Amino acid sequence: MKQNKQTTLAVRNGITADKHHGAVVPPLYLSTTYSFADFDKKRDYDYGRSGNPNRDILADTLAKLEGGEKGIVTATGMAAVHLCTQILTPEDTILIPHDCYGGSYRLFTSLEKRGLLKVAVVDFTQASCYEQIKAIKPKLVWIETPSNPVLRLTDIAKVVEVSHSVGALVGADNTFLSPALQNPISFGVDIVIHSTTKYINGHSDVVGGVVITRTAELGEELAWWANNIGITGAPFDAYLTLRGIRTLNVRIKQHQENAFAISRYLETCEHVEKVYYPGLESHPQHDLAKAQQKGFGGMVSFSIKGTIEDTAKFLTSVEQFSLAESLGGVESLICHPATMTHAGMAPEARIKAGVNDTLIRISVGIEDVEDLIADLEQAFAKTINKDVAAGGEKSTQCCAARPALW
Ligand SMILES: *Cc1c(COP(=O)(O)O)cnc(C)c1O
Repeated sequence: MKQNKQTTLAVRNGITADKHHGAVVPPLYLSTTYSFADFDKKRDYDYGRSGNPNRDILADTLAKLEGGEKGIVTATGMAAVHLCTQILTPEDTILIPHDCYGGSYRLFTSLEKRGLLKVAVVDFTQASCYEQIKAIKPKLVWIETPSNPVLRLTDIAKVVEVSHSVGALVGADNTFLSPALQNPISFGVDIVIHSTTKYINGHSDVVGGVVITRTAELGEELAWWANNIGITGAPFDAYLTLRGIRTLNVRIKQHQENAFAISRYLETCEHVEKVYYPGLESHPQHDLAKAQQKGFGGMVSFSIKGTIEDTAKFLTSVEQFSLAESLGGVESLICHPATMTHAGMAPEARIKAGVNDTLIRISVGIEDVEDLIADLEQAFAKTINKDVAAGGEKSTQCCAARPALW
């Protein structure tokens, strides 16, 4: 991973915020209201929904990390997505990926049902998407790269070039990589959003979001809407999220080192049908990943050979991975998209999006990777070898050779 000034910024931004005592950690301001300095003389803040020091330090830090002009911290990632739709009128179309985050898909299509905007759906991994952008002339093109759960990539620079040529803005959900590994604004993207719930906070204890804009003007418009509709984030959440950001770069480094080792291990495992990880040369968009990302991230998906029952056995046999949705925390999570994150999709649409019944997604944590691989190995053994499952003779290692990575 390329180290740059981002790491220093993530650690230090806002450290000089306390003018009274010089507290190194910016103090937590819970007050909902602020006194006026004099008649008709507002200080920096007047009311907590409109502005709060903790939220502002977090917004400023995230805007700088993404290379944007303005950051707006929202109560959740979905609030950030929702905020972006405020720039659309009923005549405007938002062009979205066919495999976008389920919550975003549900939001966009429900707003369309109420006549608030129009939605068009494309597959951004197909070259035909560029003609579709030109033909549809959307107001906003929405991308998510890598996508969930099979980690397909979208060529950010190309989408930006074509979208801007027809006057469309481009919004990118950068949740899966975090600003440590991908900066869409550097490719001309107009709006970046994050569910800060994931890698940015990184400790699975805050739900939050952020919108970052390339221009100050668009940032002011969206900040006005955020206050207007009342979706700004809570001070304590901002305080904790900033604490999470202090270690973002070191966490990400470990997440992806572990994810790389696990994906290589899975690739050699005879019970695995397919591994999805952009860092593998077998990934169809490996070169694009190298070109537009600073690293490959901590998410790995794979399908196992067998049935849904085998998949269930495997998922309940792992001990170092918690069977849970979400991602980006220091602890490893394992999930079955077909019955969990993607359960709301119609089966045909689900299969088309690459989510079959034996697909497993892992959010690789920062534990010792030897423990994680040993755990996957024993879960494979329990799944494949029924004797072991019944507490009988221990089978030999299920996968012949581990890659020599350590
Ligand atoms: C989790 C997630 C969201 C929604 O964020 P919340 O914080 O849960 O509201 C949006 N996009 C992606 C890619 C996500 O993973």
